[in-house]
Amino acid sequence: MKLSARSKAYMIPEYSLTGDLLSFLTCNLQYRYQNKGTLPPSMPIQLWFGEFIHGIMEESYIKWKNGKTEFPWDWKTQIRPIEDMIDLRLQVRGLYPPPKQFYSTVNEENVELTDDHELIASARAIASINIWGPYLFPLIDSAEVLIKGIRDMPDYDESKSRSNYYGINGVIDVLSSINIQETQEKSKSDNEIINYLKENKKFQETIFNLDDEEYEIIIDYKGMKRPGLDSPNWLHHQWQILTYSWLRSKQEDSKKIIAGIIFYLNELVPSIPDLKAIQKDIFKNNTDVLPEDKDLIAIEEWDESKKVPELSDKFKMNRSIRIINIDENKIKTSLKEFDDVVKNIEKSLIRETDGCKIKEAWKADAEERTCLACDFKTFCNNKHNQSKEFRIP
Ligand code: SF4
Repeated sequence: MKLSARSKAYMIPEYSLTGDLLSFLTCNLQYRYQNKGTLPPSMPIQLWFGEFIHGIMEESYIKWKNGKTEFPWDWKTQIRPIEDMIDLRLQVRGLYPPPKQFYSTVNEENVELTDDHELIASARAIASINIWGPYLFPLIDSAEVLIKGIRDMPDYDESKSRSNYYGINGVIDVLSSINIQETQEKSKSDNEIINYLKENKKFQETIFNLDDEEYEIIIDYKGMKRPGLDSPNWLHHQWQILTYSWLRSKQEDSKKIIAGIIFYLNELVPSIPDLKAIQKDIFKNNTDVLPEDKDLIAIEEWDESKKVPELSDKFKMNRSIRIINIDENKIKTSLKEFDDVVKNIEKSLIRETDGCKIKEAWKADAEERTCLACDFKTFCNNKHNQSKEFRIP
């Protein structure tokens, strides 16, 4: 009797929009070491805070939905238990809070919290919940919606490619037009998010020309400052929202998606490096949100040796919210861009499997700020690292 050989396992590579595609765009080589090599960064400030603030917003929404607790929430009694839960959840995954960013009590017992324990990550959690929560939470229809899709593998080659398809996924919050209309009718005070949408001409034009009354808006949070207009992140975040809208439109219960909103939560409590970068963007006219009056003076007069000045809530909110209108042609462009990213990841993987050295198979190219915080700068040949001399003590 002839025994047939077991056929090769059929595997479709799965890519997360933020964890893979945006990471690869940040730096190909860093992505290879961190994601493909599963080497967690030693000081994962950006990664840790991104995950932390996402978790905070999701859990706060659930808490609000179940109790409709009035805002503002108190840090020690209402927000801190959520922070502890998210901190523990991240530590289980090997993500430890960076020192001086967050006071962790996971391994301590009976700690009496004081105001000194409220470090920058907590300050941002408080601001995100208390500034955006009252407007955002009543509009959310579904939280943490997993969106997934399948696309043809770009440049598929039967002898080399891992699969003829690739999977793409992400997680979003969804706002529905029903909640937006209800909030508009019920709310005595204006909802600031609805006001921002009303002020956005393109958004109003889309609503005016809409055949169906129902629509959706998708939401994402970023633990970073608003990118400058010339920063690759500015464009990449737009591609991300457009691709999310395509993925969401494939789900049966979805309505027409007409916009996406990104909240850049560091803008609510900027750190010194954040404010330095914001100041640079403002001086170079490299941003779409400029300060006025007192905010302008405070930013113009500030330098690194001073504390971060008090800026108005309105200015911080203006810089924190970004509305991205959805357009069919732009969706096609962003899908094509991400197809190209997958093509490049797959190419680098194949080069490495074929015996090419890691540093030759994956390109080392990133913004200076990314390189400064990168664990691999001591042996990476990128131009930002060449002038620095690393000594072994
Ligand atoms: S030092 Fe910069 S270029 Fe080199 S791997 Fe890190 S982020 Fe990439």
